[in-house]
Amino acid sequence: MKKYLFLSVMFLVVGSQLAFGQAKYVFLFIGDGMGVNQINETNIYLSQMKGEGRGCDQLFFSTFPVFSVCTTFSANSDVTDSAASGTAIATSTKTNNGMLGVAPDGSKLTSVAAYAKQAGKKVGIATTVGINHATPGAFYGHQPSRNMYYEIGKDLLDSDFDFFGGAGFYDSKKTSDGKEATDLYTLFEQDGYTICKGYQDFQNKKADNSRIILVPEDYEKVAMNYAIDQKEGELSLPKITEAAIDVLMKDNKKGFFVMLEGGEIDHAAHGNDGAANVKEIIDFDNAIKVAYEFYKKHPKETLILITADHDTGGIGLLDGNMSLTRFNSQKHSQNVLTNKIVEMQKAKNGKVSWEDCKEFLGETMGFWKEISISWEQEKYLRDAYEQTLAKNVEIKDRNLYSENSLLAARAKEVMNQRAHVTWATGGHSAGYVPIIALGVGQEEFKCLIDDTDISKKIRKIAKF
Ligand SMILES: [Zn+2]
Repeated sequence: MKKYLFLSVMFLVVGSQLAFGQAKYVFLFIGDGMGVNQINETNIYLSQMKGEGRGCDQLFFSTFPVFSVCTTFSANSDVTDSAASGTAIATSTKTNNGMLGVAPDGSKLTSVAAYAKQAGKKVGIATTVGINHATPGAFYGHQPSRNMYYEIGKDLLDSDFDFFGGAGFYDSKKTSDGKEATDLYTLFEQDGYTICKGYQDFQNKKADNSRIILVPEDYEKVAMNYAIDQKEGELSLPKITEAAIDVLMKDNKKGFFVMLEGGEIDHAAHGNDGAANVKEIIDFDNAIKVAYEFYKKHPKETLILITADHDTGGIGLLDGNMSLTRFNSQKHSQNVLTNKIVEMQKAKNGKVSWEDCKEFLGETMGFWKEISISWEQEKYLRDAYEQTLAKNVEIKDRNLYSENSLLAARAKEVMNQRAHVTWATGGHSAGYVPIIALGVGQEEFKCLIDDTDISKKIRKIAKF
């Protein structure tokens, strides 16, 4: 009985510290499009890869003490887009799909990041996609359309935030009505930001500069490579997270707020590319591990929150024969498969045989090697070959963020079939998204909440 009382008192003390402490440092991770079933899918993949039975805690962030769900509807639709949901998360206000940082009537909204800045905290905004894309843009931009990339990028100048990281800026030299304009990078440098091109450049410049924009060396492509396609040393979300902490902890007295987005989880899901999607979520998890290392040094002052802005793809994990380890035989995203098919066409002077394709798909997807495929699946692939490569004709399979060769798209479909994964849509769904928390104020997130509650609760816990 005494022991029970002692434990109860201990629990109350620890619990009250967590409830009433102040989160000096706040990490908000947003897995764009990462509905709860994609987390489940990745955990099953990792469990099967380990070969140690079944489990749901292979992703590190799945082990955090609070794991609940969140609704994502927008002001004008049950199925939101990233602009409306980013705005809801950042400003606690529902807006219409496509609108960014403004209410449905067009009035400007103040984001949780701007409130943090006003309170004297350092602020960072980072992503794996364009820094003026919808989710990061919702934390500093105010435009009636998410497609007004130049204008959203220009809004960054009013933010006074300390760190931005990501794949670059879409339309950095032309306004949304197509007019030539001063390069956004020039405007940022004139405003006192230091542009770092790649992680090494960042290491060289970080000591002498306090306001930094970090982009990859090939930033003009404005797309970071998918984790499945990345080579050693490329800029990735874990590296960006390390850089953000470096910049935000410099001369820091009042703490920080940082939003880090796994933006290409959504892009892989739009393309229904199961293998690329899983690897992107693992990369996102690795970025959260970087934040956790920080948390271990400041456990009583740090909150790590993980959510998604909406579900993309409506993935179905439908049958007990799921073999997600087969994803590991896929060496590239369907986008890079497409590039490699074009290279093969060039190398063979437009005379690619079906045997060449079989060899290519064996090397890149494991088909006819470690993964057997049915006669129907082989016919499905061969039909794509007959319609395109056999005649040296291009047919593109389009999804929201990429155009791929018919053969690459069908190879990805066959991979999904062999892994026993289905996708309900190439768009978004109304599925619940996760809300996962560790640290000061974590219990605020233990019940079903709405996306508009997230920044309200952060401001309450961080007291700004
Ligand atoms: Zn999307």
